[in-house]
Amino acid sequence: MAHKLAAGNWKMNGTRADLGQIMALAAAHPDPAVDISVCLPATLISEAAQHVADHPITIGAQDCHSAGSGAHTGDIAAQQLLDAGARDVILGHSERRTDHGEDDALIRAKLVAAGDAGLRPILCVGESLAERDAGRTLERIGAQIDGALEGSDGPPSALVIAYEPIWAIGTGRTPSLDQIGEVHDFMREQLKARYGDTAAAAVPLLYGGSVKPGNAAEIFGVPNVDGALVGGASLKESDFTPIITALSAS
Ligand code: PEP
Repeated sequence: MAHKLAAGNWKMNGTRADLGQIMALAAAHPDPAVDISVCLPATLISEAAQHVADHPITIGAQDCHSAGSGAHTGDIAAQQLLDAGARDVILGHSERRTDHGEDDALIRAKLVAAGDAGLRPILCVGESLAERDAGRTLERIGAQIDGALEGSDGPPSALVIAYEPIWAIGTGRTPSLDQIGEVHDFMREQLKARYGDTAAAAVPLLYGGSVKPGNAAEIFGVPNVDGALVGGASLKESDFTPIITALSAS
């Protein structure tokens, strides 16, 4: 069985003044059986990691470079993120695919770099509204997973996959529970075909896109949903903790 994971994505939000939210999350001490990660802007990783050192919460990053070091102005290597205190890294988020033109080959290289450094990669996949309306959702998700995992004999170490329909991110819209279930079942089958039943069962499959305290419990009731990647509702402890509690109860 995959571990339950609630991962927050602060995106380009927050300054050191907001780290109190992370300390409050740690103080709320949610169920240690649920893994909690908060993926922060790089500027906050080091200080946040010190705050959660004695708590069952990990700090993550939102991207890494595919190279280990070198002439890449403004970029950050996986090893540097680890050194700053990050343990997780989001890769292939749709906002990076759009804003920075990231393709599956680059995301695959970043997955390898993250794994080599010992970071847990949270690979994001998801269809646009046009792709869903055209009936191409599973084809798109399949191509993104194949593209990112191509050539790997086993799952990159500690792999996590987040299904994030682009049209549900930050919009307040969510797919139906049947639609979420269809994609998650498909992803599990795809992992089984690639790596076998046991390895596939250990990969946490997260749903992401407008998860809130009010809809978390029903989403976590969907088979093959092992947790959530949460954007807006991870910024405040008072929103994130009820989501974690719902995951713990699922
Ligand atoms: C995200 O960007 O990963 C996300 C899921 O955002 P939100 O929860 O705000 O839709």
